[in-house]
Amino acid sequence: MIVLTVHCILNTESIIKGLGNNVNKSRELTKSLIENNVNIIQLPCPELNCFGLNRWGHVKEQFDNPFYREQCRNLFIPYLNRIKEYINNNIDIIGIIGKDMSPTCGINKTCSEKNWGGNIEGRKNLSVIQKSVEVKNESGIFIEEIKKLLAESDINLSFYDLNDKEIINHI
Ligand code: SF4
Repeated sequence: MIVLTVHCILNTESIIKGLGNNVNKSRELTKSLIENNVNIIQLPCPELNCFGLNRWGHVKEQFDNPFYREQCRNLFIPYLNRIKEYINNNIDIIGIIGKDMSPTCGINKTCSEKNWGGNIEGRKNLSVIQKSVEVKNESGIFIEEIKKLLAESDINLSFYDLNDKEIINHI
């Protein structure tokens, strides 16, 4: 039995500095998966690859460009091939676990702000913009591209958020 997780559930050092959200949840979930004999495949972190550890927090609109989408697709293709191989060999795949609110790895929710970006020098309205970041009920860019790639291969997997209690019930 296998589950795929977004990178920072297993490696919380990849999260934006100072954010550190859901570290305890990540630890608890990892422990439960191991205790239930679930094998874990850790997906790569597109934000860490593209922008490093000193990146600012972003919103989905900033990543919604052809290059970033292409990077996300390219990152997932080797994992898609492994998924196909496991399915062909009748190995059960529970699904993919992401992190809601991430502009990249959100499953059901992401963060949105169309004015977020640009040169911050002399801008007095940063806190106003920050407060106007909205929750959008849609996936982040990586998850959207993963869903497209799976659909193109006629593969139907379940998607869960880190906080989704159903994950353990499905084991
Ligand atoms: S991009 Fe995804 S894997 Fe990377 S830190 Fe954000 S939520 Fe985690």
